[in-house]
Amino acid sequence: TVVRCYSTSLEQAQHAIREHNSQINALVHVTTDNKISSTTDGHLRGWTVAIKSNLATSIAPTSCASHGLENFISPYTATAVTALERAGALMIGSANMDEFGMGSKTQYSIYGPTFNPYSSSKTNYSPGGSSGGSAAAVASGMCRIALGSDTGGSVRLPAAWCGIVGFKPSYGRISRFGLVSYGSSLDSIGILARSVNDIRLAYKAIAIPDSNDMTCMSASLRTRIDGLTRSRSWITRQETSSRKNRPLEGVRIGIPREFWVNELSDHALQIWKDGAQKLEQLGCEIVSVSLPHIPHTLPAYYTLALAEASSNLARYDGVRFGTRHKCPNTANLPNASLKYAQTRTRGLGAEVQRRILLGTYVMSAAAYQHYYLPSQRIRRLVQIEFNRVFALPNALYSSKLEVKERSTTVDALLFPTSTDTAPKQNTASDECPVSSYVNDVMTVPANLAGIPAISVPSGLCNGLPLGLQLAAQYGDDDLLLRIAHHIQ
Ligand code: GLN
Repeated sequence: TVVRCYSTSLEQAQHAIREHNSQINALVHVTTDNKISSTTDGHLRGWTVAIKSNLATSIAPTSCASHGLENFISPYTATAVTALERAGALMIGSANMDEFGMGSKTQYSIYGPTFNPYSSSKTNYSPGGSSGGSAAAVASGMCRIALGSDTGGSVRLPAAWCGIVGFKPSYGRISRFGLVSYGSSLDSIGILARSVNDIRLAYKAIAIPDSNDMTCMSASLRTRIDGLTRSRSWITRQETSSRKNRPLEGVRIGIPREFWVNELSDHALQIWKDGAQKLEQLGCEIVSVSLPHIPHTLPAYYTLALAEASSNLARYDGVRFGTRHKCPNTANLPNASLKYAQTRTRGLGAEVQRRILLGTYVMSAAAYQHYYLPSQRIRRLVQIEFNRVFALPNALYSSKLEVKERSTTVDALLFPTSTDTAPKQNTASDECPVSSYVNDVMTVPANLAGIPAISVPSGLCNGLPLGLQLAAQYGDDDLLLRIAHHIQ
């Protein structure tokens, strides 16, 4: 059964949860005592919101879908969640995910897998991951918007496979305070919704400076970026333009040829072509561009993300964090490390353990030169290539406004979010783990470069949704939302 419904008042959301959650398994904790406060007049008043289970809330354990944190109630609430509540939003529940954000299908969860709302009774498709619970909840009408996290595509991939919009802002736009770390230099909180406009309004509420997160953009950097983006002459031209049917007149869109990978399916290629044509009709100029190091980003991502994860997850040893497991014979174990090992062995799932081991290995003295360092180099090269291709200077690196030749640069890039439609939701044991890493080939470059990217639904293929992705220069989030609004 295709499960969708398009309005989400509190009553409608609760109805959808009662009807569909047992089948889809999108929400792992549901709040029952929501009331729209009569004193709130925020611009998100009464909006129903689902929160990925790796964000600290007061409504449910911040479990990360892991036995290790199964009963962990955070003593504080994530800044993004507090900001949504302040704007009047209602938290309706916490969403399923891959354990600690590690996965692309929402299959590695202690609560069991989530299923794509587009599945039928015979075909159980994956909603994508790791924010698959958030995406499936929005797509099936259990909430109006959802928060997810995106380290390598975890907001955009499930958005594409569930037929909704998923936005990963520039690194640091939204505070990570209260988001459980996976790969700290890549992690971003993202927003999922059925329309770009809903995303824009939620983004406005949560994209604020926060002294609790030292990587969150400061107020002065935000002002500097605003100055750079507003100084573009074509923006002013567009605002006074009377050509209503060509609202994106003057915008240059790049088609990066390296995203035409071997794995790209015919339908993904088709929606890419259709998307470019649509943007052209809206007034954009379409040009082909090249980012030569894109083919190396997937291995670089899986080296760097795992290296950071191995360090971030070291804290779940049962001393300060994590469910402590007592083994009858721990008293006889020779040292403390072995006692911690019991907690980790039982608390963390196989995929998480695999990644901690891989991450620890690439950071070891012997492997560092061969894996970690080259991956950092690839990351830097990709950042340089993005900076070269975008007309807007990168606010982090350019002390003075360098004027680039407009004819050789673009304002945004267009490419598919995934190589194909959603795969079947297999059980964790019947698939080679590494084969699912390939799903992220289209999404990881934006995280490595810290640039904003958004996935917009682009039609169905054999009854399953596909998404198109737009990416822009670091800080150019508003432009991205504007372009996305016109093509959704
Ligand atoms: N699928 C990717 C991974 O497993 C991305 C996950 C994410 O963005 N949290 O690392």
